[in-house]
Amino acid sequence: MADVHVHSREVTMAAKRLLLERGVSVEDIAKIVYELQIPYKADLKFEECIRSVERVLLKREIQHAILVGVELDKLAEQKKLSEPLQSIVESDEGLFGVDETIAFGAVLGYGSIAVTTFGHLDKNKIGVIHELDKKREGVVHTFLDDIVASIAASAASRLAHRLRDEEESLTEREKDIQEEEELIG
Ligand code: MG
Repeated sequence: MADVHVHSREVTMAAKRLLLERGVSVEDIAKIVYELQIPYKADLKFEECIRSVERVLLKREIQHAILVGVELDKLAEQKKLSEPLQSIVESDEGLFGVDETIAFGAVLGYGSIAVTTFGHLDKNKIGVIHELDKKREGVVHTFLDDIVASIAASAASRLAHRLRDEEESLTEREKDIQEEEELIG
């Protein structure tokens, strides 16, 4: 097999397109981020939450989790998985944990705040996560609800760290360096 290099721009576009195709907008995720972070920053602007989600969506770990998870959801909807996986994914079986594992792996790049926030969202499904979690005939979001939680948790953690950077009056250049570091992985 030839060593194929898929351009990151292509992966970024595919990940965003898949989210929209599955009914999840950047704004939907930003609303969760706002709810999570407003207790820590009274003057938090919704635009900051949107920007944070956009930044997180540039991260490869997250993009790959979207690609894998949504693909499995779609294949399950089309009944194209092999049994017993088909039944397990389609019914969102309670003891099946691979959906959480993939999403959990994707938050690790944003540190312990992202990890604990992901756990919180996994238990208390808010906003669009709650909507995705509702069972509807012919619709499978077994992986997507966890992936959205991982994007929201990562974006909330990123905001928390940036808030500290602002408190410490880091220059824009210093903040950019931190951002570039965050995109590795
Ligand atoms: Mg799930």
